[in-house]
Amino acid sequence: MLELDEGQIQMGLAAAGKRQALEAMAAALVADGLVTEGYLDGLLAREAQGSTYLGQGLAIPHGTPETRPLVYRTGVRLLHFPEGVDWGDGQRVHLAIGIAAKSDEHLRLLQMLTRALGDADLAPALRGARSAGEILALLQGTPPALALDEQLIGLGVPAEDADELIWRGARLLRRADCVDNGFAAILPQREALPLGDGLWWLHSDQAVQRPGLAFVTPSQPLRHLGQPLLGLFCLASRGDAHQALLERVCAVLIEGRGRVLTEAGSRAAVLAALGAGQAVGWPSAQVRLANPHGLHARPAQVLAQLAQRFAGDIHVRLANEGAAVSAKSLSKLLSLGARCGQALEFVAEPAIADEALPALVEAVRDGLGEAVTTPLDQVETLVMVETAEASVTVATPELPPQAPAAGSLLQAVAAAPGFASGPAYRRLTPRFDYAPHGESSAVERQRLEGALARVRADLDSLVSGSQAAAIRDIFAMHREILDDPGIAEDVTVHLHRGHSAEAAWHQVLEAAARQQERLCDALLAERAADLRDLARRVLARLCGLEEQAEPEQPYILVMEEVAPSDLARLDPSRVAGILTARGGATSHSAIIARTLGIPALVGAGDTVLGLAPNTPLLLDGERGRLYVDPDPATRARLEDERRRRAERLERAHAQRYEPAVTRDGHRVEVCANLGDTHETAAAVEQGAEGIGLLRTELVFMAHSQLPDLAAQRTEYRRVLDALAGRPLVVRTLDVGGDKPLPYWPMPAEENPFLGLRGIRLTLQRPDVMETQLRALLLAAGDRPLRIMFPMVGTLAEWRAARDMVQRLREEIEVTDLQLGIMVEVPSAALTAPVLAKEVDFFSIGTNDLTQYTLAIDRGHPTLSAQADGLHPAVLQLIDLTVRAAHAEGKWVGVCGELAADPLAVPLLVGLGVDELSVSARSVAEVKAAVRELDLAGARSLAQRALGLADAEAVRAFVEAG
Ligand code: PEP
Ligand code: MG
Repeated sequence: MLELDEGQIQMGLAAAGKRQALEAMAAALVADGLVTEGYLDGLLAREAQGSTYLGQGLAIPHGTPETRPLVYRTGVRLLHFPEGVDWGDGQRVHLAIGIAAKSDEHLRLLQMLTRALGDADLAPALRGARSAGEILALLQGTPPALALDEQLIGLGVPAEDADELIWRGARLLRRADCVDNGFAAILPQREALPLGDGLWWLHSDQAVQRPGLAFVTPSQPLRHLGQPLLGLFCLASRGDAHQALLERVCAVLIEGRGRVLTEAGSRAAVLAALGAGQAVGWPSAQVRLANPHGLHARPAQVLAQLAQRFAGDIHVRLANEGAAVSAKSLSKLLSLGARCGQALEFVAEPAIADEALPALVEAVRDGLGEAVTTPLDQVETLVMVETAEASVTVATPELPPQAPAAGSLLQAVAAAPGFASGPAYRRLTPRFDYAPHGESSAVERQRLEGALARVRADLDSLVSGSQAAAIRDIFAMHREILDDPGIAEDVTVHLHRGHSAEAAWHQVLEAAARQQERLCDALLAERAADLRDLARRVLARLCGLEEQAEPEQPYILVMEEVAPSDLARLDPSRVAGILTARGGATSHSAIIARTLGIPALVGAGDTVLGLAPNTPLLLDGERGRLYVDPDPATRARLEDERRRRAERLERAHAQRYEPAVTRDGHRVEVCANLGDTHETAAAVEQGAEGIGLLRTELVFMAHSQLPDLAAQRTEYRRVLDALAGRPLVVRTLDVGGDKPLPYWPMPAEENPFLGLRGIRLTLQRPDVMETQLRALLLAAGDRPLRIMFPMVGTLAEWRAARDMVQRLREEIEVTDLQLGIMVEVPSAALTAPVLAKEVDFFSIGTNDLTQYTLAIDRGHPTLSAQADGLHPAVLQLIDLTVRAAHAEGKWVGVCGELAADPLAVPLLVGLGVDELSVSARSVAEVKAAVRELDLAGARSLAQRALGLADAEAVRAFVEAG
C-alpha cells in the first residue's frame, strides 16, 4: 500500500522547466532505490502521452506500463517547488508527486489526493508550505494546526489607533507566512468583537495560507467603538483550528484574569496563559510519580484541588513529552495518562512559583493521598529562572528512572546463560535538546571546534587502548570521518545559515547517514550506524552530556535494548554481561548474546536504566536474576552456585561427544543452530550431532549482494564437508518481518510480521528460491541433507515449495534428502495431521510460534519479555505437532530458543520431541540435561504442564518438580 510520510518530501526546490523537474524526480526515485536508471524516459514518455497535471498546483509524474519493470519497489517521492514549475498549458506545479508503481497500488493515493483537490485553497497553501509536515497535512486533508508562537505576539507595539494595531497584528501573521499580503487590507473591514477586559477579537478566512493567531497590545491605552482596547487577537482562520484556543481565551476571561494578557510582561507569559506550549522561562519543577496505579482519578483530584488554591497559572506535562495541560483541571490531568515512575513537570507563573512548585512536588512525592510503597527520594527539581524574551531551548536532562536499591533482587528474562559480575556501565540513548539557531557563526564554529577536539582525543585514546583489531579499526575510521573535508564544508554552510553548532553537525551527519543507507550494499549501508554514532559523540560534547568512561575491568553493559549490530561490535573480553531494560528471550539480540557466550538478562524493566555508574552487579543468566550490589553473604552463596555450575558445565563438556540418552534409554538428538558456515567445525567440536537449523538468511546477509549459484554452493558445501556425514537441516531463505536483506528492498508494511516473509516471499521470487535449492542439491550429492521451508502456514505453500524441489531432483541427483517444514505458525501446528502425511519431518520454530500464538511481537520493547514459549498454549501446539508426526512415522525437532531453556528440556522430551537444535555453546549442557531425565517422568510432567494456566505456572511447576 502506498503511504505518504515526511521522509519522502524534498522542500524548497527550484526547476527551470518541466524537464528539469522530471530529471530531479527521476534522480530522487533512483537515489532512494525505488527505480533503476532509465525511469526518466518513462516519466517523459508519460508526459508526452498527456500531462500529469492534476489541478491545484499538483502533478503526478509517473512511468508508462512499459517502464514498470524498471521499478524495484512501489513508492512515491514528493518535490516541492515554491516558485512553481511551468507544466505546460499555463499550469504551474508547486508539488510534484512522483510515483513508482509496479501495479495499480497508486490508486489509493489518487483517491486521497482527490479529497485534497476539493480544497479550493490548496495551490496557495502548497506554495506557502514551509515544512514537509505541512505538505502532508494539506494532502491528507488534515486541518493544519493553529500557529501561535512568540513571533506572533507583539507587546507594547506603537499604535495610534485601532487600525494601526490591527495592521500590526496582520503584519505578524504575514511575517509568519500565515497569510498573503491582501490579508492586511481585508482584516480592518471585518467587525471586531469585544471580549471584555479591554480585549478584542478579529478574524478573516480570506488570503489565509495556514491558520494562525496573532496577539498585540498597544504601547499606550487605546479606545475602539467607545470601549478600551488593551489587547487584540487577530485570527487567520481555517476550519476550526482555533477552537481550542478560543475556549482557552474565554476561560481566562471567565476567571477574571484578562489582565494576564493585557498586562503581560513577556511573550512567554501570554503563551502560558493561553496554554500554548511550554511557558518559556517560567520556573518549573519535576517530580516522579510514585503511585502504583499512576495518576488515576483520586490522586488527580487531590492534585487539581491543590493547584486550584494558587491564584495563577500552573501547567503540567509528562516531562519532555507532549503538551502541557492545566494542573487545575481534573479531566486534563487524567488525559496525561501518567504512569507510575514517569516524571511530571510543573510550570508555574513566576508570581506563585516559589510557593506552588514545592507544594505540588511534595504532594506528588507523598502520594497525593495514596500510600506509596517506595517513597521516591530521588526527586530532581529543575528551576528555570524567568528570562523575559527567552528564545533558547533549555536543555532539560532526562531524569533517570529510580534505580533499584543496593541489596535488591530483580527478576528478568534469562536470555543467555552464565553468571557475570562487574560494575554497571550504562550506555543509554542520549537525548539532546539544543537551540536550532546559534549566536553567530563564529561563536558556533568555535564551540564546534572545541567539541571536535575533545572527541578526537577520546577516539585516539580508544584506538590506542583497544586490544581487538576490529574495534581499533572502527574507532580509527570514526577519527577519519571527523576530519572529512566534505563534512567540514557542509557544516560551514549550515553555520553560515545561522544554525547552531549542534544543529549543523546533526543535520550534516544525519544527511550523510541517510545517503549511506540508500546504498544497495549491506556493508556500506552499515556505515550509517557509524555516522550516527559519531554524531552522538560530538553532540554529547556540545550539550555537555558526558558518557560514562568504560570501566577498567569487565563490566555489565546496561542498555535500553540492544540491537544485533550493537552486539556484533561488543568485545566479549570487556563485556562480562548484558542487562537490558526491554526485549525478550527470542529477540535476535538475545540470540546473538547466546552465540557470543555473554551471559544476558533482558526485559529487566526501566528501573535498571537508573543504576548509578559502577554499581556492583551480579547477573544470573540461568535463572534470570539480577543482584544489585549484593551483600557479602549473597555474593558468597552465588559464587558457590557459580562454581557448581562451572563444574557441571565442565562435566557436560567432557561428555559432549556422548549421545544424549535418558536414564531409561531414550535417545534425543542434539544439534546446533548455525548462521555462519565457517562455524560448522566449531559446532561439531562442541558436541553437535549435526546442524539442526542453518539460517541461510544469515549466509545471504554476509554477502553484499544476492549470492549466485556458485557462491551458495561453496557455502553449503563448506558446511557439509565439516559435518563429515552428519545431517544438515537447512532452512531456505527466511527474510521479511524483522529480517531485512539490505540488497533486496521491500515495500514497507504496516505489520511486517504478518506480511510478506519466509516462504511467502520466496514463492514470489521463484528465481531466488530455485537458485538456492539448486545450490543445496548440488552441494549435497550423497550426503544427508534435510531442507525445510520457513513460515509455512498452508498446505498449498508446502506443496508449491516441495514441487520445486522435486522438479530439480529430476536434474540433480541426491541420495539422502528429506523435505520438511518449520512449524512456526499456529495454522501449521493445527493442520499438522494433514501436513504430516506429506512432509518427512517438522522442525518447530518456537520463537515465532510463541509470537504468533500469544500475539506478542518477539522484538517488542516492553511486551516481548512475556513471550514465553512455556505458555501452555504453545506447549499444546507442540504436543499436537508431535502426535501428528509420530502417527505418520515422521520425526520432530525444536530449533527455537526454547530448546536450550533448562526448564523446557524435560517438557520437550516429555512431549516426544526427537531432536533439539540449540546454539553450539549450549549443546553439551542440553545433552547433560537430557541425561538427567527419565522418559516416563518427563512424559507425566509434560502432560500435567499442558493443563496449567500460564507460563509462570509451568515454570514454577517444573522448578518444583
Ligand atoms: C523460530 O522462529 O523459532 C526460529 C528458529 O526461527 P528464527 O528465530 O530464525 O525466526
Ligand atoms: Mg522463525
